[in-house]
Amino acid sequence: MPAQHVSRREFIKRNSLSGLGAVLAPSLLTHAATAATDRPAIATSHSVAEPPALLGGKPIRSKEWPAWPVWKPETDEKRLLEVIRSGVWSRAGVVTEFENEWARTVGAKRSLAVVNGTNALITALAQLDIRGGDEVLVPPYTFIGTVAPILANGAMPVFVDIDPATFQIDPAKIEAKITPRTRAIIPVHILGLPADMPAILAIAKKHKLAVIEDACQAHMAEINHQKVGTFGDAGCFSFQNSKNLAIGEAGAIVSNNDLFMDRCFSYHNYGNPYGMASGVIGAGTIMQGNKQRITEYQAAIGLAQLKRLDAETTLRNENAAYLKAKIETIPGVVPYKLYDHVTRAAFHLFPFRYKKDAFKGLSRDIFLKALSAEGIPCSKGYATLNNMPYLNDAFQSKNYRKMYPKKQLDFNQYVTQNHCPENDRICNEEAVWFTQNMLLGTRADMDEIADAIEKIYRHADKLVSLK
Ligand SMILES: *Cc1c(COP(=O)(O)O)cnc(C)c1O
Repeated sequence: MPAQHVSRREFIKRNSLSGLGAVLAPSLLTHAATAATDRPAIATSHSVAEPPALLGGKPIRSKEWPAWPVWKPETDEKRLLEVIRSGVWSRAGVVTEFENEWARTVGAKRSLAVVNGTNALITALAQLDIRGGDEVLVPPYTFIGTVAPILANGAMPVFVDIDPATFQIDPAKIEAKITPRTRAIIPVHILGLPADMPAILAIAKKHKLAVIEDACQAHMAEINHQKVGTFGDAGCFSFQNSKNLAIGEAGAIVSNNDLFMDRCFSYHNYGNPYGMASGVIGAGTIMQGNKQRITEYQAAIGLAQLKRLDAETTLRNENAAYLKAKIETIPGVVPYKLYDHVTRAAFHLFPFRYKKDAFKGLSRDIFLKALSAEGIPCSKGYATLNNMPYLNDAFQSKNYRKMYPKKQLDFNQYVTQNHCPENDRICNEEAVWFTQNMLLGTRADMDEIADAIEKIYRHADKLVSLK
């Protein structure tokens, strides 16, 4: 039906992401900001009294931020060149070595490398038999790569609102979303901050739900000294270029369940039996499969990156704690909170909530522009994932129309049922992010971030008239 295809595509084109669900609730708060002069500036080495860079003043910072990904030819290239010169490029010993190292790093029995984090989740869900008619609980505060795998398996995403203090799925809101069709939950350790796994596991156990951790942003993060990704039935990681362990593209599934991992392996290698070398022809295919193998040279890059992941993670944690302590004294700046049992975070991003009423009503967009102008890159982060056209596109597909009653595929009704007001506020009004590479800088770099925010706070009255 080409006409229908065209109209669906047109629909997607016409509905820009920002247009949907981006209705801002009028703020009910009054501007109760402390008068700027009531508290001392936190500035250390720059004058926050200078005019804001956005209004023509001198920026707080003009230096570059630490580059990402890190690549050191002296230490990183020997193995990679050996692999390239060997001509063995398809999956073989180096991939297995990387998998073993990754399993050891996170403390899982097994690890399987796949093409990316999205397909790690697709594979894990499929081998836990999450399929058509099943409902999967998921937070809306995440990357599309969490939700697309649910749809790829024909299942129905059900969104559970977040706790704005931690940015994570709110365990207190999970049980209200459970129905007889609920089969699994995907806790996402979003921004590299651990979700509340003890609370989530207790609920999953009570309702017999599978738990698939999306740890795509949370390499080496820990709860009670146990690495995230090892709490549920499966943990999924991404090694995409921006992630804390960067290969360009790749991902991994970890688990302690041998039968499950054998099936994942088969699935990632055409459905051929686990243990069979890649590329063997004519030996018999035992299950429905796909092909998701990474190359030997990707694994060689991963092994090089893995050597510095621990030290980088420590540095990010130290800088994040330092920066948090500095900026949380600024009115209207509310940094992330970690759960008490978190012993280490990954800090793929450093988030805070921006309360514009403390900044004389200065919009988040202008705040972000002003901060960027000071030499501090920043963003507002995710848009609301629980009301975008991709959902309706799946609901209108032939498979969904065969698998679900019409009522369940009513998009307007779906959006109403999946409304998540806390997430709306974080996405549409409050979240501000810094990227992980900035946390690989020095204490002086963190001081500059804090100074720049303080400077904007002090000059909010002059910036507020900008459009
Ligand atoms: C990056 C990411 C994914 C998908 O990983 P890819 O390797 O890009 O496919 C999934 N979930 C989250 C939370 C991510 O950040």
